[in-house]
Amino acid sequence: MGIYPDSSALIEIFDSNRSIEEYFLWLDQHPDGFVINTDGEGYQMLHKASCGYIRKRCGEKTPKGATQGKYYKIASLNVVALQQSSHVRGNLQVCRSCKPYGTHLNERNT
Ligand SMILES: [Zn+2]
Repeated sequence: MGIYPDSSALIEIFDSNRSIEEYFLWLDQHPDGFVINTDGEGYQMLHKASCGYIRKRCGEKTPKGATQGKYYKIASLNVVALQQSSHVRGNLQVCRSCKPYGTHLNERNT
């Protein structure tokens, strides 16, 4: 496509192959990034990296649940690259709490 720098289009996978600390470090370092929470079996929810649902709640209830158990995370600074990633299959849900598309999408829809 060439409409964004390669570095911003990188897709990061945070699953049991990586430590939970790496995941939270990425969130801290990329507050403007985007994260898909998935179980790899059809559940895929897009969040902002700053969203409380992916930052703490999973981790507090089940200490390593955010990436080490049933669920894992797909992260990128570029939401388009994330949507088009081969890791995303089928229907992508959008978090109603953090509204990752912001007002931009709402403006286009009205
Ligand atoms: Zn969210």
